[in-house]
Amino acid sequence: MDHPFILIRRELHKIPELGFQEWKTQSYILDYLNTLSSERIEVMKWKTGLFVRILGKEGKRTVGYRSDIDGLPIVEQTDLSFSSNHTGQMHACGHDFHMSIALGVLSYFVDHPINDHLVFIFQPAEEGPGGALPMLESDEMKRLNIDVMMALHIAPELKVGEIGTKEGLLFANTSELFIDLLGKGGHAAYPHQTKDMVVAASSLVSNLQTVVSRNIDPLDSAVLTIGKLTAGTVQNVIAENARLEGTIRTLDPETMERIKSRIESIVKGVEWQFDCQASIDYGSNYYQVYNDPKTTEHFIQWAENKDTLKFVHSKEAMTGEDFGYMLKSIPGFMFWLGVDSPFGLHNGQLNPKEDAIPFAIDTITEYIEFMQTDE
Ligand SMILES: [Zn+2]
Ligand SMILES: [Zn+2]
Repeated sequence: MDHPFILIRRELHKIPELGFQEWKTQSYILDYLNTLSSERIEVMKWKTGLFVRILGKEGKRTVGYRSDIDGLPIVEQTDLSFSSNHTGQMHACGHDFHMSIALGVLSYFVDHPINDHLVFIFQPAEEGPGGALPMLESDEMKRLNIDVMMALHIAPELKVGEIGTKEGLLFANTSELFIDLLGKGGHAAYPHQTKDMVVAASSLVSNLQTVVSRNIDPLDSAVLTIGKLTAGTVQNVIAENARLEGTIRTLDPETMERIKSRIESIVKGVEWQFDCQASIDYGSNYYQVYNDPKTTEHFIQWAENKDTLKFVHSKEAMTGEDFGYMLKSIPGFMFWLGVDSPFGLHNGQLNPKEDAIPFAIDTITEYIEFMQTDE
């Protein structure tokens, strides 16, 4: 017989939904919560997400636990019997795992009351446009008064039974980058009557390479990648428009600001040089995930002494996570959960090992119980 939360994960895996469209996911979670008969549960809808509070015996402290709930616009290629029913959408970042684990921990504490209040946050739109920041700023969140926050993310490169994290910076500051250039099109043989945006865009891409190499301290780290470049319509017409699409990643929020200001100067220079108009859009921006040293240290010490798990000291990564906004105002931490998959996050063949689900539920419930013993 399969573990009940593995079965829940499979049901959720069938219905991945994109950011702020997670209506089926929300109603699946609500239906599950309705099966838990307890006067101690308080459920609040927030857009396509949920806040669920389990009242503690004393409630002097409130412990928050966050799971993201959205899928990705990726075609599933796993051939699993419970593959996505939504063509072109997939839980390829493990948020189906995150939800079933959160439901497992939640269910345990409904039956085993502790002193602290617990708040489970089912957060939409982690992959974009970002649900953590608006949820954090919501009236519900302010009323819940969370003292400490935690969350996990599945890690394909770790084995089941392994967890990892570090104090301080875990994930980078990230920003999308879209630059549109508008010139003047015309006949390919009359360049003097036009403003050619293929030439302007090429120059801009080259100039942007100097931002990280010439403006950032070599001992600091940053990435500026242009992943997509589009311009023009046909080979013998000079392009009137061009568009650059990219991403910025930094280990320091100030470096992010410096890079943006350099991009703005370079874009102004291109406007002047090629007599064109440019506009910059930074799209989704995520603040770094910075693990509060004190709470993280407490967790690491506990984890290192557990013989039921293997603790791994993680390095920081240039990936982004909007949980960083929650950790900016509430102390807490995020950790990696090993799921042992040869395919990485955001891969259509990602197939995490489901044994990680009962392991994670046990680990988190034990840690929350341990937190009760040393106030
Ligand atoms: Zn993701
Ligand atoms: Zn994710």
